[in-house]
Amino acid sequence: MITVPYQISKHVSVVTISLLLTVFIGCTTNPYTQRSQLLIIPQGYENQMGEQAYQELSNDPQITISTNPKEVDPVKRVAARIIEAAKHSKYAKAAQQFDWEVSVIKDDATKNAFALPGGKIAVYTGIFPEASNEAGLAAILGHEVIHALARHGAERMSQGLLAQFGMTAAAVALQTQGLNPQMNQLAMQAFGLGTKVGILLPFSRRHESEADYVGLLLAAHAGYDPQEAVRVWQRMAAKSEGQPPEFMSTHPAHETRIADLQQWMAEALPIYTQAAKAPVSDLPTITPSPAGRVPTTPSQSR
Ligand SMILES: [Zn+2]
Repeated sequence: MITVPYQISKHVSVVTISLLLTVFIGCTTNPYTQRSQLLIIPQGYENQMGEQAYQELSNDPQITISTNPKEVDPVKRVAARIIEAAKHSKYAKAAQQFDWEVSVIKDDATKNAFALPGGKIAVYTGIFPEASNEAGLAAILGHEVIHALARHGAERMSQGLLAQFGMTAAAVALQTQGLNPQMNQLAMQAFGLGTKVGILLPFSRRHESEADYVGLLLAAHAGYDPQEAVRVWQRMAAKSEGQPPEFMSTHPAHETRIADLQQWMAEALPIYTQAAKAPVSDLPTITPSPAGRVPTTPSQSR
């Protein structure tokens, strides 16, 4: 048939043009690491997904938001300085647009914290022992906030959509499907909130490394000693024998991570030296359970 090659070539050219267009439009370079990122999800859409994921989590009857000032005040203090630093970082534009909100989830058994696209931050009281003090919490929040600002969730969603639909269909799916349960499920997984849907996807090594590096600089800029980040990961590693805490299963900690952090100190320490120092108090003591919530999938090594 004469028409077959014609149709194939027509099909191929449409796909090729669409692919080139999408890659051209959706490709961005990380301002700190110069890593190329494929992003087919618009920032506004991603922020909406973040808001929706947070609402869903807040409505979970098993979630208790802490109103204890001893738990809430230090978290809000640290988050405010990290957010302020973000507004003066290379992510200033996104940080200004985010509708920031900080919550403490009263759950001494869950060692976790997250920051969602759009600016919703939550810290579980279970991570207080590893954070230990406000500088340790700054290291954790710096890391989490960078996952949101560097659009790691959107990157994971883009990859998920491409895997499910292919390049052209993914763009169509995005336009026509809007906010629906299927997209929401993909977002929950992409934002690291997968326990709710039974799948806990670890962030990739590149995402982790990027969040560690830029998060370290951000915490230093906010006036927190970057060397506390190393101690946080050492405390995480010390407690990870047996059942790893939830935070560790999505954020695999290894010797290389600590070695990387130490290497980046040369850049982070001068920033800290020049920054207005933050007050640093110890976090309140909680009664941790012997093991954090059991992750639904085995942790991925980096
Ligand atoms: Zn992470």
